[in-house]
Amino acid sequence: MLTMRNAIISLLATLFIGGCSVYEKYGYGRIANSKLDSTQVTPIELPIYAPSISQRYRPQYASGQGEHKGFDILVPSRTPVLAASNGEVVRVELSILYGNQVMLNHGSNAAGFRIQTRYFHMSETIVAEGEKVRRGQLIGYSGATGLLGGYPHLHFEVHQLNDENIPAAIRDLDPQLFWVDGKGKVTCYDSARNFTPAPVSLSYPVPCRDLDWQ
Ligand SMILES: [Zn+2]
Repeated sequence: MLTMRNAIISLLATLFIGGCSVYEKYGYGRIANSKLDSTQVTPIELPIYAPSISQRYRPQYASGQGEHKGFDILVPSRTPVLAASNGEVVRVELSILYGNQVMLNHGSNAAGFRIQTRYFHMSETIVAEGEKVRRGQLIGYSGATGLLGGYPHLHFEVHQLNDENIPAAIRDLDPQLFWVDGKGKVTCYDSARNFTPAPVSLSYPVPCRDLDWQ
């Protein structure tokens, strides 16, 4: 009964608030169709060995649909979640809508603004606030926790902190702008690769097939 009630609340929350709603088949290298017009999305090159994307970032001004502040990676529950870049854990919490979540602060991007990444709906988190993490480090496991969780996946967000003292100066941005290999070029984490630490750039927050992350 509780599961059914949660499913209904999740559906209603998704309809009215936006959020993670589209279900697709688990797999690799696929991106779900987007109803957004081409001016609203960054083209994505997803490696064939990267877990599929079920829902893209939708900015607030995208008409006709609720906003979606990050993108969804289709991974089964208990998939390792990896830090997208070197950083520090600024928050670990259980929220009603987003379930178990972790927020990491990283260094600055090329424009000099601090970048923050957020990981939602996790089944378990294994880092503590204040802890330093390195790119590719295991920070927990994916899941479907929180009312907007719906089905097992990782919801991933990127925020830019325009002024660290003013909460309202934090804004969400399309994560596709920040990959190590460039805009729209999803970059898998690979422990054998040397990543440059600055300016901040991101790698995929879940392991890609056949690539070492440990
Ligand atoms: Zn989502």
